[in-house]
Formats: sequence, structure tokens, C-alpha cells
Amino acid sequence: MSTDRKQSIPFNKSIKYFDIGVNFTDPMFHGEYNGKPAHPSDIEDVILRAKTFNVRGMLLTGSSLEESRTTLNIANSYPNYLYSTVGVHPCSVNEINSENESQYLDNLKELAISGKKSGIVKAFGEIGLDYDRLHYTPKDHQCKYFQKQLDIAIEVGLPLFLHMRAANDDFIQIIKPYLSKIPNGVVHSFTGTEDELKKLLDLGFYIGVNGCSLKTEENLKVVSQIPLDRLMIETDAPWCEIRKTHAGYKYLTSYPNETYPLVITPQSEISTPSTPSSGTSTPSKKQQPIKLDPILPFPLLKKEHYERFNINERTLIGEKSAPLIKSRNEPVHIGQVVEIIANLQNESVENVVKSAWKNSLDLFKIDDVDEEFFTY
Ligand SMILES: [Zn+2]
Repeated sequence: MSTDRKQSIPFNKSIKYFDIGVNFTDPMFHGEYNGKPAHPSDIEDVILRAKTFNVRGMLLTGSSLEESRTTLNIANSYPNYLYSTVGVHPCSVNEINSENESQYLDNLKELAISGKKSGIVKAFGEIGLDYDRLHYTPKDHQCKYFQKQLDIAIEVGLPLFLHMRAANDDFIQIIKPYLSKIPNGVVHSFTGTEDELKKLLDLGFYIGVNGCSLKTEENLKVVSQIPLDRLMIETDAPWCEIRKTHAGYKYLTSYPNETYPLVITPQSEISTPSTPSSGTSTPSKKQQPIKLDPILPFPLLKKEHYERFNINERTLIGEKSAPLIKSRNEPVHIGQVVEIIANLQNESVENVVKSAWKNSLDLFKIDDVDEEFFTY
């Protein structure tokens, strides 16, 4: 993007989102689906869309030693906007064994220490237990390395980014002795029961809500019980999108609304970094009429149609803006999570947003960003 085309848009003052769960190392953000390439990496467009709709910060998830490294590098390119975690997901602890254990955990600790020092690593995780997916890692192996990583988290002095699926009792039993020694944590992507929620709240944890937490009527009932002073919001992108078949979907309305306030774009168009260089603004023979997403003012395309969308001069929103990819969740969708929570809790969007923002900045020790404009 050339500097002479730079534009500024005022940030909306009352809406500030912090997405606590984003997986930018996932191949889908680099255009690869099930091992097959479909389009060029469009992370810059994904971030531009997020900024357009007031996502003012994100915590990227590290889920193994290698991925934590890559995640940290990505976060490094967007200072004061992207932050990251370091840790090994319960489904990935199978890559640690008695032979590589001491080296692996030492490297993990070093990465967390140096990342914390540079101000990018804001939590240790994601760590925890996942008994829904024992085919990746058996129970005892998960428990062992959950504990060993908790030891590291205490040494490093970072809050926890936790993952817990169908393992509430073991989870609580393992983590309880550590509680007085850690600076708290968030149980992200919460899909548990009311009883499980109560137990986690009693331990003092924050609860992260995304599309996976809003799938069924039972889920919705549980989410309606989360106190605002313990709530965090996330997309878990590219996963956990809110689908039409999900119970929460009925609460969603289309842009412009409270969660996605009207964007006033400058007259001139912009060209975004991922514009294909060989493209022309004349639609090719194969090009389909452009369909916008039902909720957001961006084109919605199947991944295999991405390359046909060759428009040189792109706008920030509307038919000529960079496309969303069907079935791939991304941070700009966080407003949908908020709209459903506000409805369930009978709260204003502003209150939900303010609380989640405050909770995230408090836990991860991030200074409030108060820029008035984003420049693209
Ligand atoms: Zn998770």
C-alpha cells in the first residue's frame, strides 16, 4: 500500500472489542484448506476488516512450542495491536515425551520469559484438559503436562489462558493448588454446564465466550448466567463461527446496528495489499455476481472463488471490498458474539462491550489504547 493513499477513519468511541482468542497460525488464514492451497494469505485484509469494525486488540493463541513461536512473530509485526500466548494445548501435549521433555519445556519457558519481557506475550496457554478429544492425547498424559505447564506459568508470572472440555472435575483438582500463586486466568471457549460455570466462577476465573458457546439453547441459558465482570469475548477464529443453524443466530441483525456502527468511508477508494497484481477491474467471464455477507458489508465468497475476485481498486466496505471466506470465522465477527450476549443478558451492547474490554485489559495487563483514528 503506498503512503500517499493512506486514509484515516475515526474509531467508534463506545465500541471497543478485544478478541481474546485468534488462531492466525491456522493454514486457513494463509489460504490453505485441508492441505490444499486455495488463495493467497489475506491476514492483512482480515486485520483491516477487524479494525474497520472496532476490534482494538487481539490475543493470538499459541498451541505448541512451534506455533507459539510463529504466533509471537505474527504479533510482533503489529505492535500494540496483536499480543500472544505461549503454551501447549492439551491435544498437542502428545508431542512431549520422556525423551524431549526437559528440552521442550525449557524452550517453552524461555520463549514465555523473553516474550513477556518484550511486552507481546500476555498469558500462558492455551493449556488445560480436553476429554472430548482423547484420540489425540490420553488423559494421564494431558494431566501430567497441564501440571508441568502450570509450574512454568508460575515461574514466568503470567495469567492463564485455559482450555477445558468435558473434564471439569480433574481440571479443578489439578488447578486448585496453584490458584494462590497465579495472577488468575480465563477459561476460554466455554461450553460447559451451569454447574461447571458456577464452580469456575467460584475459583475466580474469567469466562471466554465465542460462537461455540452459543450453539444450543442449553448453551444460551448458561451464557445468560455469566456475570459481566467475569466475561471475555472471543471468536476463536478461524473456528467457532456462528451458523444459521445455531441457537444464538436468531438474535443477530444486519449492519448497520449497535455492534457494527455505520462506517463513513472517504470518497476515494483504497487498494489493499493482497490485491492480485495481474487482476483488472473488468469482471472476467467466469465472475459471478458479488453477494454480500448477510450481516456484514463485505462480499462473501467460497474459498475456491477467491481468485476470481480480481478487483484492483478496493474499497473499505461494500461490493468492492476484500471478501470474507465462507465458513472461515475471523475477528470482525466478534460483534455477533456481543449482540447475542447482550440479548441473553438483557443488557445494553455498550455495557457488555465495556465490561469485556475492561476485563481483558485488567487480566492481560494491557494499557488502554486511545487512538481516535485507524489508518490504513
Ligand atoms: Zn481452546
